[in-house]
Amino acid sequence: MSGDGTRCVRGGEPGTHEIGDPVHRGPVLTSTYHLGRPEDAGDGSDFYARAGNPTWREFEAAVGELDGGPCTVFPSGMAAIAAVLRAFGTPERGVLLPADGYYVARALADEELRPLGVPVAYCATAGDWELAIVRHRPALVLLETPSNPGLEVCDIAAVVTAAHKVGAVVAVDNTTATPLGQRPLDLGADLVVASDTKALGGHGDLLLGHVSAADPLHAERIRGFRTRGGAIAGPMETWLALRGLGTLDLRLARQADNARALALALRETGGVHDVRWPGLPDDPAHTLAARQMRRWNGVLRFTLADVHAVSEFLSRTTLVDSATSFGGLRTAADRRARWGDAVPDGLVRLSCGIEDTDDLVADVLGAVRAAV
Ligand SMILES: *Cc1c(COP(=O)(O)O)cnc(C)c1O
Repeated sequence: MSGDGTRCVRGGEPGTHEIGDPVHRGPVLTSTYHLGRPEDAGDGSDFYARAGNPTWREFEAAVGELDGGPCTVFPSGMAAIAAVLRAFGTPERGVLLPADGYYVARALADEELRPLGVPVAYCATAGDWELAIVRHRPALVLLETPSNPGLEVCDIAAVVTAAHKVGAVVAVDNTTATPLGQRPLDLGADLVVASDTKALGGHGDLLLGHVSAADPLHAERIRGFRTRGGAIAGPMETWLALRGLGTLDLRLARQADNARALALALRETGGVHDVRWPGLPDDPAHTLAARQMRRWNGVLRFTLADVHAVSEFLSRTTLVDSATSFGGLRTAADRRARWGDAVPDGLVRLSCGIEDTDDLVADVLGAVRAAV
């Protein structure tokens, strides 16, 4: 297999091209396509853009190659998760979700699925999934590893073994890791879901998501769901994300360098508690994460005394935006308790951008020291 940089730049390209073909094809903006003779049945060509678009296929080919299975693009990470929950969560057996994962996935399950009679159960990311699977016998298990915002990790291959014993489908939210950081389908998972709004798109200027499947029949089901449900990605956003994907390898490398340097510096800083980044050799999640992940990323967390300390920190930094979302070019800090996550008041999720490491460390340490 080629290296990550090569795969990001060349991914999904057709092997051959004609003289005069554009090297960069750009977004295809059309709702409708030429149909040809009215007496002919459809031959699988594009006919209407809710069902198919060439820019989607370019993105899906590139990301599907990285994930290791056919990919379906969605207009957001939540649209991708909604498709998986609705397509695979049955009223007979229900869904098992991470208790400490992305909060809107929980809200979707509780507010939209439960009223339809779909049982909804939870397990902590670092908890006992085997026990929860035996107890609830779900139709669908959704994992999120590393989890957002806790950066806890679970053993994908072990959960898959337990889930497949009861006939459950396993989906892994791979947003934090990115397709370069982790390949859940290789570890036995049936589906990968992700928010490409984060590091994959990478520039903080679009929302997008995708589902990749190990089984082509599962991919068909997801595609049918997209066409009928009508939640489809705009070709412009899809093309921008494809453009962003070209530099994912470079961005991830700098973000991980910044996260490592900041994690090491922050845990030597008074008033900063519970610094977590799975790439640190003595992080509680490190051994498992190192076994199942291919590389690290730029998301870490730490805890200051309280909301006032976080507020002081943010008022003194010049390189850290107070903003939610992660994986972008600019370093951003998000106090997760403001969104209702069950975390300490002073817990900060820090998404490292691609600024120079020395600049970022000096700015963050200066602001934290002055704040605590
Ligand atoms: C952001 C996020 C989502 C939701 O993605 P959107 O693109 O915002 O809809 C889902 N899962 C995780 C882990 C996320 O961080």
